[in-house]
Amino acid sequence: MRAVIVEKPGVVRVDDVPEPEPAADEAIVRVGACGLCGTDVHIIDGEFPLTRYPIIPGHEFAGEVVAVGEAVIEIKVGDRVGVDPTINCGACYFCQRGQGNLCERLNSIGVVARPGGFAECVAVPERTLYKLPDGMSFADGALIEPLSCVVRGVHRLQPQVGESYLIYGAGPIGLLNAQMARYNGAGLVAVIDINPSRLARARQFGFEVVGASLDEVRERAPRGFDNVIEATGVTKVAEIAIDAVKRRGKLLLFGVCPPGEKACYDAFKIYNEEITILGSMAVLNSYGPAIDVLNAGAVDTEAMVTHTLPIEEFPRAVELFRSGAGLKIQIAPNGSAAS
Ligand SMILES: [Zn+2]
Ligand SMILES: [Zn+2]
Repeated sequence: MRAVIVEKPGVVRVDDVPEPEPAADEAIVRVGACGLCGTDVHIIDGEFPLTRYPIIPGHEFAGEVVAVGEAVIEIKVGDRVGVDPTINCGACYFCQRGQGNLCERLNSIGVVARPGGFAECVAVPERTLYKLPDGMSFADGALIEPLSCVVRGVHRLQPQVGESYLIYGAGPIGLLNAQMARYNGAGLVAVIDINPSRLARARQFGFEVVGASLDEVRERAPRGFDNVIEATGVTKVAEIAIDAVKRRGKLLLFGVCPPGEKACYDAFKIYNEEITILGSMAVLNSYGPAIDVLNAGAVDTEAMVTHTLPIEEFPRAVELFRSGAGLKIQIAPNGSAAS
């Protein structure tokens, strides 16, 4: 079968690899669609510290089950499924306390040490599989994973109906956060991005309060925002984002900033204004809820997926991603992602 292989940082090819065989507790998923994400590009560039090479990347995918191991119970051949790529050990201190996304031996399909979804087929443990609702396309199913990270962020923020939000970054993750905020009953959602075409896209999603900096949106929230979500992964942005937080407000660090870089905050301000700074890491009990809100229409999925490419064009997909073109770019390793 055809698959994308990242041999080592900087060395990527699309090549033939052996078809996967299911272990007893695994199913084989024929991939319908797999989204390209900043993490994949970090893996290609050698900037994701946990990755063990070579690896078939791809952690945002959905498809059809074509084989199951003998110990698989819930999932049947022919099921249409999405995959929660997180594989925690189940035995460490954090796993035993229900905090599997903080696992001390965290593995992740297509990210750390298991083959991912940029391939015709992939073997995954049954416990990672969620059945798609009737009528949900694989293209939409491949959006569940990024949305499940956003739902995890909501679980961390615990926002209240009517609160205001400011999202830094109008890329796919920023706009998923913005749509989720609106769905959760936001009183106001503002979006900041330095790329004018991304702001134009935010407006297409119905977000009217947009700007290139806080100054351009501040008059809509002169006391600041209840919830500020950093979705650029730029440490400097994570630092200045504190200026937008209202008294008693919260700053959620959602973007993946380079490890080791430091943001500098005014400790007195955090004390004096009762500000909360939160992190949100990947997915925890949020994949199922993400399916449900996606199915309920929380996200304009058609507007989110701007490119669908065959697997042979993976290098072009990465170039498109780096250029900032479009929003979510997906690979359909077996042809059309629509079904
Ligand atoms: Zn991702
Ligand atoms: Zn663990």
